[in-house]
Amino acid sequence: MGKVRVRFAPSPTGYLHVGGARTALYNYLFAKQNQGTFVLRIEDTDLARSTEESINGVLEGMEFLGLTWDEGPYFQSKRLEYYKEAADKLLAAGRAYRCYCTPEELDQMRKAALERKEDPVYDGRCRHLTEEQRAELEAQGRTSVLRFKADNEGETSFDDLIKGQITFDNKQIDDFVIWKSDGMPTYNFGVVVDDALMEITHVIRGDDHVSNTPKQIQLYHALGYPVPKFAHVPMILGEDRTRLSKRHGATSVTQFRDEGYLPEAMNNYLALLGWSYDDSQTLFSMDELIEKFSLERVSHNPAVFDIQKLQWMNGVYIRDMDIDQLYIRVLAQWQKAGFLSENPSEEEAVKAKAVLKELQSRVKLLNELDEAAYYFFQDEVRYNQAVVEKILFKPGVADILSHLLNELLQLKEFTEENLEPIFKATIEKFDCKLGNIMQPVRVAVTGTNVSPSIYPVLTLVGRARTCQRLRDAVEMIKANEKGE
Ligand code: GLU
Repeated sequence: MGKVRVRFAPSPTGYLHVGGARTALYNYLFAKQNQGTFVLRIEDTDLARSTEESINGVLEGMEFLGLTWDEGPYFQSKRLEYYKEAADKLLAAGRAYRCYCTPEELDQMRKAALERKEDPVYDGRCRHLTEEQRAELEAQGRTSVLRFKADNEGETSFDDLIKGQITFDNKQIDDFVIWKSDGMPTYNFGVVVDDALMEITHVIRGDDHVSNTPKQIQLYHALGYPVPKFAHVPMILGEDRTRLSKRHGATSVTQFRDEGYLPEAMNNYLALLGWSYDDSQTLFSMDELIEKFSLERVSHNPAVFDIQKLQWMNGVYIRDMDIDQLYIRVLAQWQKAGFLSENPSEEEAVKAKAVLKELQSRVKLLNELDEAAYYFFQDEVRYNQAVVEKILFKPGVADILSHLLNELLQLKEFTEENLEPIFKATIEKFDCKLGNIMQPVRVAVTGTNVSPSIYPVLTLVGRARTCQRLRDAVEMIKANEKGE
């Protein structure tokens, strides 16, 4: 195999969605695996639908996922001269012609074909216009498009690296437009010129493009370009088995980023949307994906996007992440939340990392770390009222908390080792179970009944805040007893 060159060629008409990201990833993996080149090309010839915002979304999404391209981004809107040259070549060779049909005429043609129960294809009526007829139509002020004189006989077939041999009857291929009246090439034309000029060896893309492929192959032949290999990846469905779309919730990569998904987990999950290595392995680092990915093992069938599985996987990556790394990932988020200062001191960093150590196995998304951690960094506790009523407002709790408060105030050093004997002695004194003490303390200090182990929680919250919260809880209980 010669030097591999692949490309990701999004149309910037929306955000970078899960399907596009997976296509980009497969191209990236294939390029890396073969020491090839990964090209990014923005197909922005649809003037009405392409936006700057969408281009930025694509670039941001790719950067977030770490899918670094080796060449580009190329913008088709800046490469018109190349398409023009190729179109002239087809015109000169008699493989393209001007078509003056109006939208109304095309519509009538379609309807008539459907009535005859034929495919609604262009009937080629402008193929044989004489010079005079052309001049007359132009004199009428008609605009024109350029159509490719397709080969309507025989078959066009290709060996798809994923789907195997695919054959089209050329009767299905009409004289499609290659140049629009707005002065821009069509997708099918631009893509062929660019893939040829950029020496793309493997076209890996979504299988919604299978039906475009015979048209493109005919163009390759007509222009005298070598035909690349094609690999069409199956589409992605929502859990209701319809094509994945916004209706199914977040599908944009930047939205996933903003919700606290990690690029490592996203890549791992996206890789498995339509590809598997074997029946058992689910977790793959990027290096492993590069080593193990193969087009042969990409499924022919659509993949189903399972957000629960992605969340689970994200949780696994957070849990297994090195604490220094995790700290770097949450730094900006925790600065924004006010948990860390602009330039965190060593002491702040040490505490934040210790808090992360306690929480990392308890969340699935980075964003959940804000709610899970706020009480370590802020004075105010947000009490879960139902839990307060159930656990704090039980008879005897105020006495236990008051007793503990006194003990904690007298403690020489507020450390985990020193806390334990105090809790043990309190159990004995009140003749109760550990849970009867732990739970009220947990609710008083964290506002709720689920948190990491109580000793590290208390030491990280610190003596001053712990004691203040115990005091507040006792007050709350008393106020409740008085019916305030
Ligand atoms: N611009 C096309 C799209 O976004 C690219 C298709 C292709 O890869 O050829 O669907």
